Amino acid sequence: MNIWEMAQKQLDDVAEYMNLEPWIHRKLRECRKALIVSIPVRMGDGRVEVYEGYRVQHNTTRGPGKGGIRYHPDVTLDEVKALAMWMTWKCAIVNLPYGGAKGGIKCNPKEMSSEEIERLTRRYTSEIINFIGPEQDIPAPDVYTNPTIMAWIMDTYSVDRGHAVPGVVTGKPVELGGSWGRNEATGRGVYFSVLNALKYLGMYPEGTHVTVQGFGNAGSIAARLLYEEGCKIIAVSDSKGGIYNSSGIEINELMRLKKKTGSVINYKEGDRITNEELLTLPTDVLLPAALENQITENNAEKIKAKIIAEAANGPTTPEADKILEDNKVLIIPDIIANAGGVTVSYFEWVQALQAFFWSEREVNLKLRDKMEKSFWEVIKVRDEKKVGMRTAAYILGVGRVAQATRLRGLYP
Ligand code: NAD
Repeated sequence: MNIWEMAQKQLDDVAEYMNLEPWIHRKLRECRKALIVSIPVRMGDGRVEVYEGYRVQHNTTRGPGKGGIRYHPDVTLDEVKALAMWMTWKCAIVNLPYGGAKGGIKCNPKEMSSEEIERLTRRYTSEIINFIGPEQDIPAPDVYTNPTIMAWIMDTYSVDRGHAVPGVVTGKPVELGGSWGRNEATGRGVYFSVLNALKYLGMYPEGTHVTVQGFGNAGSIAARLLYEEGCKIIAVSDSKGGIYNSSGIEINELMRLKKKTGSVINYKEGDRITNEELLTLPTDVLLPAALENQITENNAEKIKAKIIAEAANGPTTPEADKILEDNKVLIIPDIIANAGGVTVSYFEWVQALQAFFWSEREVNLKLRDKMEKSFWEVIKVRDEKKVGMRTAAYILGVGRVAQATRLRGLYP
């Protein structure tokens, strides 16, 4: 089953559970619009390379499409479609007035110069220019795209329209109408999710043991905030391997070291472990914050965490999910746990549209409210319907999109 079929299957399961009207189910199973563009780019050596790019709007019933743009050699149309569908459910769960969209270019930015990436970005933007817009579809950063790239998209779009249009993308630099707190938003949202889960289980942050797989943007910010709250971060890893210290790792020192040397493995006050070992350590909270498919049927049985907060997208396979639910692990699924990023993107869009900007404190407080509300709404569905957290999250998200579809009806 490829990733798009997997996303459709997840919807099929929940549609059956909810007894969704067949017309709504069939409509939600497909993407509303998908655009494939070819992007010719003049390279540094004078050659012209042609890349393939995509922008997909899965659903726009509740508002404009929202979703990141990914630059990666493995990008496919099916992957972009699946990610767009997941964005629809994620935006509905945190109750943002958005649908779901996603974009991507099949390329390897690690092998391209900054000038080549800029030309690629501007030509891609130009090719999709009538497909995106503040009221239509609002891109944001994703894997290997960043605020600088968002600034180029905003500039290209604005030049075309003849005036500055900051609401066309989110994740922009603050100087161009970006929001304070956007860079930390995903990690901060994961942190709020963990605090809520601890409260639900009658646990306290002080002394709670936390392990973190992936010490990038999402993982390192969540780890730092939990550390400041009194949690003990006992193990951390990145693509080069992991470190373990049962008495706790000094996170600020680790962040400095990671920045300086490029990896957490250079931290001296701990033992070296593999990523596989990290996942199965005795711990209270596990944060998978790296890649998809990390917790599988091969290791799920060995996982000892009481709470798993999915900072990464898709770290747990459906088979592993079932094992973890049977073992009473509280899973905070990706579509809630990492929704902090899109939530502050929404705040950025609102600020840009109003040309009225908020303080970082205001952004963080509003983020906390949104994350708290959605967490407890999912818990309520879980407890009422006696289903797993992921199913509960889907029931809430798909249910909201289905209700909007019902109310709008079918045109013509
Ligand atoms: P990032 O590139 O900043 O960090 C990824 C980290 O994972 C790096 O430290 C890398 O070394 C590590 N890593 C890579 N391969 C690994 C492996 N095999 N084992 C352990 N660690 C490994 O990326 P990010 O933005 O933090 O994103 C991480 C995950 O969170 C992704 O799944 C992404 O889709 C998801 N996510 C991120 C955001 C966001 O706003 N940053 C929002 C929603 C979801």
